Amino acid sequence: MSIASDGDIAVEGVSLRSLPKISLHDHLDGAVRPATIVELATESGIELPRTSKGPVRSERALADWFVRQSDSDSLVDYLTSFDYTVGVMQTAENLTRVAREFVEDLAHDGVIYGEVRWAPEQHLTRGLSLDDAVEAVQQGIEEGEDIADRDGHSIRVGQILSAMRHSDRSFEIAELALDHRDSGVVGFDIAGPEDGFPAADHRAAFDLLAENFLPVTVHAGEAAGLASIRSALLDGRALRLGHGVRIVSDLDVVNRAGDEVQVKFGDLARWVRDREIPLELAPSSNVHTGAIEAWGSELADHPFDLLYQLGFAVTVNVDNRTMSSTSLTRELALLVDAFGYDLDDLETFQFNAASAVFLPVEEREELVAMIAEGFRVD
Ligand SMILES: [Zn+2]
Repeated sequence: MSIASDGDIAVEGVSLRSLPKISLHDHLDGAVRPATIVELATESGIELPRTSKGPVRSERALADWFVRQSDSDSLVDYLTSFDYTVGVMQTAENLTRVAREFVEDLAHDGVIYGEVRWAPEQHLTRGLSLDDAVEAVQQGIEEGEDIADRDGHSIRVGQILSAMRHSDRSFEIAELALDHRDSGVVGFDIAGPEDGFPAADHRAAFDLLAENFLPVTVHAGEAAGLASIRSALLDGRALRLGHGVRIVSDLDVVNRAGDEVQVKFGDLARWVRDREIPLELAPSSNVHTGAIEAWGSELADHPFDLLYQLGFAVTVNVDNRTMSSTSLTRELALLVDAFGYDLDDLETFQFNAASAVFLPVEEREELVAMIAEGFRVD
């Protein structure tokens, strides 16, 4: 199978890029265009990385550098990459630009609705307030939506505000999310180092959100196991799990031959499956960060297909497009390549995502109808 540079392939004669898609787990600071970083680095006081050939100067060289960092099997190297993206996102102007380009890139990828997550507390080094930062990103989102509209592509994007799990500002970020719920914010998340920083540490923030009925997703089951997923559901009252891939360790696979899977469920895995709690899986990122290391190091080792066959509400995500040099189209292409999925399978993943977005039910139904229409092959 040959995947085009923008990730596109044809499945049953249909271009994957042209199909309507939903992006649930997509970090703003993981999706900055390398060209934009090169352009903004000097005024932002950021020194671009050095390689054996000297300092990186071009967009291409920087894009390659991100890929090498992600492929290094070191989570520390992977996380270092964010210094360069977050570093150029410290002014209102730059946040607006990065958010606008984010929406334009999603539109180009065939996304009709996206939720962008980012951590406002990481963007205050040059004098912005939390409110300024959220407003700057919202401005960029709306500009991006307008540009896409003019190009004939209708897209909407909502903000998910992430609090950093190793810092102590989650209550403040929860308040910030509530303050902006009528002006672009659709949900809340916690991000950053998972192992050793369970959702329980942020119980006060989650209580406030629950009392005010703001939807929550929690990174869990990526870098830590079942206890973290449990805390995301019980303390965080998460409606979705950021990755959640390690839920597989609560399954005892008795027998697997072809499509026949015999599994004993633990109570937690049974709950996640039977309550249809969406799993925000990100195939390439899960390989890069070692989230699936218990099952292997290749995309074909990803338990995505096992979870799908067992009836979990799987969704496909990019996580960090720049670090993994990917797009939603490309992630779908990689899954087709690894597991032989057809259009019906890919449509199911989009229906799962549309049903999981943090929008009112009538708008979710509208997205479901748009997907059904877009996937109809005459
Ligand atoms: Zn993530």
